[in-house]
Amino acid sequence: MNDSNKTKPKIPQGRCPSCGRSVYVGSKPNIADIIICTRCFAELQIVDFNPIILEWASDESDSYEYDDVDYSYR
Ligand SMILES: [Zn+2]
Repeated sequence: MNDSNKTKPKIPQGRCPSCGRSVYVGSKPNIADIIICTRCFAELQIVDFNPIILEWASDESDSYEYDDVDYSYR
């Protein structure tokens, strides 16, 4: 057995679903971690890491932003 290539550190990277760039996710990626794309600054969430899959983070759970905006006050 030749384990000479075992010493090569594997850099954990995912792919941005927006721009396609490989995004470094840190040395110990966890499911549901939030990653910011270094190219398009999209907020991404780790949904899997074997291989690493990134998806949009702001999908649900922030509906308060669109919660019945009222423009009547001035
Ligand atoms: Zn991107």
